[in-house]
This record gives sequence, C-alpha cells and structure tokens, in this order.
Amino acid sequence: MHRRTTQLRHRSPARMLGLALIPLLAACPEPQPDMRPPTEQPAAEVRPEPRVAPAPERDLPAMAITVDDLPWVGPLPPGMSRLEATDSILAALAAHDATATAFVNCDRVPPGAPVLRRWLQAGHQLGNHTSGHLDLNRADPAAWAADAMSCDAFLRELTGHDAIPFRYPYLHRGHTVERYRVGRETIDAMSAPVAPVTIESLDWVMNNDYVAALQAGDQARARTIADAYIDHILRASSHYQQVAGERLGRDVAHIILLHANALLAHNLRHLLRLLAQEGFRFITLEAALRDPVYHLDDDYLGPLGISWLYRIPPAAPELFQWDRAERDRLRALAR
Ligand SMILES: [Zn+2]
Repeated sequence: MHRRTTQLRHRSPARMLGLALIPLLAACPEPQPDMRPPTEQPAAEVRPEPRVAPAPERDLPAMAITVDDLPWVGPLPPGMSRLEATDSILAALAAHDATATAFVNCDRVPPGAPVLRRWLQAGHQLGNHTSGHLDLNRADPAAWAADAMSCDAFLRELTGHDAIPFRYPYLHRGHTVERYRVGRETIDAMSAPVAPVTIESLDWVMNNDYVAALQAGDQARARTIADAYIDHILRASSHYQQVAGERLGRDVAHIILLHANALLAHNLRHLLRLLAQEGFRFITLEAALRDPVYHLDDDYLGPLGISWLYRIPPAAPELFQWDRAERDRLRALAR
C-alpha cells in the first residue's frame, strides 16, 4: 500500500487555513498539538505519527449511533407510515437504552415536523445535515452556506438548543481550499460541533432493492438483503476497529453513520443486539467526541467522503479501497 508523500502532508486543510482550534476543541482541556511553542514543533519532514492520549480502555468498545437524512430517505417499508417506521427505529433504540443523534434535511420536513418531534420526545438529539442535502464539492459555495445556516436556524427554533451538531452531506468537506474554507467558516459561524464518522455504512446500496423485494412479496430475497445489511455493518465495525488499532495503537469511541430508511426500521433492534454482543456500549455523540481522536487535525483535502480514521494525519485516503470493495460486494449481493 503506497504511503502518502511529504508534499501531501503539507496540504493539511486545517494547517492551510490556520484552523488550529475548531469549535470541537473548546471543550477539550488538553493542550492541542498546534498550541505547543514553535520550538517544540517537529520539522514537517519528520512529523511523527499522531500522538493521541489513550482513551480509558475499560470504556471501549463504544459507539455513538447517528442516523442521517431525517425525516426519511427512500421508500417506506410496505404497510408502514413514516411515523410508524420512525417509531420502529425509536423502539429499537429504547430497547438498547441508546441515545442517538439524528441529522435532518430541513427542507424535507413537513409542517408540524411530526417525525422530528417524535425523535425529540424520545430523548434523542437532532443535528443539521443542511436544508437540501447540498454537496459542498459541487454546490455554489454561497448557496451551500445559506442552506446550512437555514437548517441550523430551524433546528435552534425547534429544539430550543444552540450549538446544533453538524454533519456534512456525503461527508464532503470541500475538495478545494476555497470550498473547504467556506465549510469551516460556515460551521464556525453557527458554533456547531462537527460530527465526523468513523464507521460508514453502505446501507443505501441495498435499501431500494430491499423494499422492492418486500413489495414483490419475495420474503426470501428481502431476508437475504437484510442479512447482508446486518453482516455488512458488523464487518464495517470490525474493519474500522482494526484501522483504529493500526493507525493509533488503540480503539476509539466510534461514531457510526446509519440512515433513516426501511432497512433501519426493520432491522435496527437485531443489529443493536449483535453489536452489543460484539462488546459495544452505546454512548451519546457528545460522549464520543470527548475521545482525543476527534481533536486531531483533518489532514485530507480531496473529493472523497471518508471515515475520520482515514482523515487524521497522515491522511490515508487509499484505505478507502476497502469501502469501494465492500460497496461492490453489496451491489452484487443485492442485485
Ligand atoms: Zn445524508
């Protein structure tokens, strides 16, 4: 596997933008690497592997559950309303005493926001996923910023909270310096904690095929896809634990990305049971973000929407080949 070049190391977006202290760090009492006096800074050419304070091992493995694309994405499970499908997800979370953060596309919220109110009533947190799910790598930057700000304002009003967590659509943080800067400045203006993802799930690859099988009355095929979905998330969790071990010498408090879709509504309870059997404790996003891994620089500038564990210095976008292979495997299975 090829290693990144020194030249690429110099392209750390956080360093280019002088963003030594992003809002996430405000709550962190530990001195940050960029706060060291200049004399203690190692030369760029010999920058060491990231130094991260050890997490309390007794608290790991742990995982914060995040659900994107509220109020709903993709077709509904046959015979279920959007609220019924939402209640199914919430019941699964309650059965495992898990408090999730759910990221909203505010333009897709109907009057009265019934689904969002259900999530809030159940004790979960809402986050900003931009109003229209705009892609920072493609949208007009000013339009992207306005879209993010409008969703933030909507959620502040709805929840009565400030500092609404933010998740980039497609995990795209801007593939040029200019776009990256717009993203960061917008998020800073909202005083929003960014919610990175360590465990990406590719549920969207199979979701439509799953619903199509159910609609066709093909229970066997639907079961096959559901099993592949659950197996995939267990495989991904294990993969990213391994990546954390290889890159940091320890596991991290993970943040998993799921979607508010039919596969989740039907399978979350079983999935959480299996993850708990693997040893995962379910923690809040806020608790996960206390892991020092999230205080490291973002070292990746490019087009991919990738795990935080690939973005930490030295960025390792080549590791995304695992995700590509997994996506191809799932596509073949669902077909
Ligand atoms: Zn999304």
